[in-house]
Amino acid sequence: MQGPSAARGRPLSFRHGRSHLWASDVSRLIVASNRTATPGADRSGGLAVALADALTERGGGVWFGWSGEVLDHGSRGVRIFADGDIDFVLADLTRDEHAGYYLGYANDTLWPVFHYRVDLAHFDEAAFEVYAAVNRRFAGLLFQQLRRDDIVWIHDYHFLLFGHELRNNGWRGPIGFFLHIPFPPPEVLAALPQHQRLARALADCDLIGFQTKRDVGNFTRYMTEEHGAEAGEDGHLRAFGRKLRVEAFPIGIDPAEFARLADGAEAREAAGRLGRLIENRALVIGVDRMDYSKGLPQRLEAFGRLLDEHEGLRGRVSLLQIAPPSRENVHAYRELREELDRLAGRVNGDHSDLDWVPIRYLARGYPREQLAGLYRLARVGLVTPLHDGMNLVAKEYVAAQQPEDPGVLILSEFAGAAERMEAALLVNPHDIGGVAGAIRHALEMSLEERIERWQALDAEVRRNDVARWRRSFLDALDTVRAPA
Ligand code: ADP
Repeated sequence: MQGPSAARGRPLSFRHGRSHLWASDVSRLIVASNRTATPGADRSGGLAVALADALTERGGGVWFGWSGEVLDHGSRGVRIFADGDIDFVLADLTRDEHAGYYLGYANDTLWPVFHYRVDLAHFDEAAFEVYAAVNRRFAGLLFQQLRRDDIVWIHDYHFLLFGHELRNNGWRGPIGFFLHIPFPPPEVLAALPQHQRLARALADCDLIGFQTKRDVGNFTRYMTEEHGAEAGEDGHLRAFGRKLRVEAFPIGIDPAEFARLADGAEAREAAGRLGRLIENRALVIGVDRMDYSKGLPQRLEAFGRLLDEHEGLRGRVSLLQIAPPSRENVHAYRELREELDRLAGRVNGDHSDLDWVPIRYLARGYPREQLAGLYRLARVGLVTPLHDGMNLVAKEYVAAQQPEDPGVLILSEFAGAAERMEAALLVNPHDIGGVAGAIRHALEMSLEERIERWQALDAEVRRNDVARWRRSFLDALDTVRAPA
């Protein structure tokens, strides 16, 4: 999950300490995520909209998270912004907390391990202690805002200890947790020196949601093998003396909105600008954050292999790879950037001609309105992460297509999306020859087959949209009973 941006609106109220403690009221939804989408912020990202809608649909509630501020001497309280029915409750991080909790343990330890990249993880006990302390402090701050009948929904790997810390404060109400990234197999997770503490803490939640059945299977196997949990037939686990419900809730997009964007003026303008450059050549598109989980080097290599081996395709197909850098202060990302520059340079050096460049690699982000137009222009959507919780780009690509002339989605079997998008050309992203073959297959595919595959994919994207994701999670959370 990429956190929504955190532009800040005008503070509508400013409070420290307890505001409504235990005042009985209707059940409010309380969302806790590392980043929030505060008033005035860009809410065009799927998750920001999903959570804002979830809060609004339930008549309002609280959205707690990091303010995005890093202070030399942190304010220990919270700032509260009211935006319609939603109270944003925001806490700052100190410089040390930002380094240990966010850049350190969350991004540099949990992110790689949960994406099956133990080799890239840094195991720093001091960073874990800061991570634990921030979860403790943040949970304490949110606890002060809670009312007896509230329902708490915690998000993602930044807050693995958050539910446990709420319990330590005395919270007895329902807690749901949703993991946006993959949950690795027990053999991988066991490399994490703190895995037992994290598992114990997660067991304090009543409902744990994952993106895929594969993640549910990994978690269930981990809890049974490592901690002697008992798995019931009904999707419940008994672990650490508690009963938890564990289930897959595949996250989605708003496909109707994306199709509208693809029809809009900005989309057409962007597609027109690129279309003039590529003329009538086929376009293959990749859109990602620049992250080592996305399989970008392998993707460029596969495209290079395609051109190396198929002379007839030279001058007839271009790859547009959009990948803005992220978390540049982490060493691995700098190396990735250099590797991509080198690989694109190799392919372009070998194959470019006076009027054609095979790989156009743009290290920046584009507004969704423009992306939608580029997706629609592209004959092939190339989505080949080495591991991904879900991958929304795959769904956006499908939603942006024209029904009478759709493009072909090539999708990594290791993206969560692949579990329900079998009508894509599924590939192993490590298999360079296999991906090159899939691109060739996609370029040669008949209109009839393209339409047939696309219709199946589109039906799935519409069925499991973002509204269904949030409603099914909250329905499940409503049914779990709070501990006595
Ligand atoms: P992740 O959450 O790991 O970044 P997803 O594919 O699930 O991966 O979600 C990425 C979201 O960010 C999508 O909505 C996509 O449109 C957007 N996005 C990804 N890369 C870019 C980019 N280069 N420019 C603009 N938006 C992007």
